[in-house]
Amino acid sequence: MNITVSKKLESLPPYLFAQIDAAKRKARLEGRNIIDLGVGDPDIPTPAFIIEKLYEAARDPKNHRYALDQGMPELRDAIAEWYKKRFNVDLNPDREVLPLIGSKEGIAHIPVAFLDRGDSVLVPDPGYPPYRNATILADGKPQAMPLKNSGGFLPDIDGISPKIAEKTKLMFLNYPNNPTSATADRPFYEKVVGFAKQYNIIVCHDAAYSEVAFDGYRPMSFLEVSGAKEVGVEFHSLSKTFNMTGWRIGWVCGNEQAVAALAKVKSNIDSGIFQAIQVAGIAALKDGASAVEDNNKVYAERIQVFTDGLKNLGWKVDKPKATFYVWAKIPKKAKSSLEFSQILLERANIVATPGIGFGKYGEGYVRFAMTVNKEMLKEAVDRMKVYLIDQF
Ligand SMILES: *Cc1c(COP(=O)(O)O)cnc(C)c1O
Repeated sequence: MNITVSKKLESLPPYLFAQIDAAKRKARLEGRNIIDLGVGDPDIPTPAFIIEKLYEAARDPKNHRYALDQGMPELRDAIAEWYKKRFNVDLNPDREVLPLIGSKEGIAHIPVAFLDRGDSVLVPDPGYPPYRNATILADGKPQAMPLKNSGGFLPDIDGISPKIAEKTKLMFLNYPNNPTSATADRPFYEKVVGFAKQYNIIVCHDAAYSEVAFDGYRPMSFLEVSGAKEVGVEFHSLSKTFNMTGWRIGWVCGNEQAVAALAKVKSNIDSGIFQAIQVAGIAALKDGASAVEDNNKVYAERIQVFTDGLKNLGWKVDKPKATFYVWAKIPKKAKSSLEFSQILLERANIVATPGIGFGKYGEGYVRFAMTVNKEMLKEAVDRMKVYLIDQF
């Protein structure tokens, strides 16, 4: 038999992260001592009180059955309360909140709800790969919005061509940003709301890192801006906030029609989140504030150690205000982000993600995830000093 995949599946770029994983596995098999700064996955465990709640809820037979598609009402209430307390944004828990099996799941499905063949979607470049790839899987056309250092890694909304804007159904945004660690402020979001209204574009703001912020900086919600709820939704996740990446729980909230459309797609695909995880998620949202603070202290310290270390090598890097990523211009002598990442791995046994993996405008950069302890980060800097000093 001749098995052929769909043209759209074939057209998806090979997942660069899978290639990096293979190189990493090979190096480990060779017995090399790898420092992995490649993955955006917290190394710190989920707070104990959340795990305790899961134990308890997992023992209760009523949690063993199919969950409600739209999530437990208690979870939607907890999300709305958390939003009110954190952002002073009012959400109707029945109509404006929808739990997701991790925010990636909702991000990947929302194009299915809104795109017809050939419709455009504005995606940040560099950006989290699912924005672009889920657009392709839904027969849409991704249109890159370059994020450049000169623009603070915000897309140039005024520079988007009206011809493209007229064909656009969705716009993905993500602040605090992965991979650049840039943040956005109110005037930017206000501009986005105006643009979205003018061209009838649904804004999908991914706020996965809204709680990972340092030195007193508190990222705002897109939904805080007046008119935002008319034009868009915001994706949130417990993954980075509470070190729960493996648990698969997040949500989307905001525009009622957009939430309902995504719910309709999902009702044909999945059957909700394991209820015991929802119960644990409620506990996290209600009682997790101090755990978040503790987490952020750890990241802030790591970032300080790592960026100070790079500066001592003569490598100019900015200290991020949010996210656990350090987004650094590759040294002058490196030819490309991929080549530099390979040098890092081959010579120093350090894994970092080449910017090109996030889109063509990511070229010239490398992303370091602060997801190892500060002793290992110091060790990483020491290795660069010994094995890569000719690069700087
Ligand atoms: C980690 C991450 C998410 C969260 O994904 P989950 O599916 O909720 O685990 C979403 N967006 C970005 C940009 C991320 O880096």
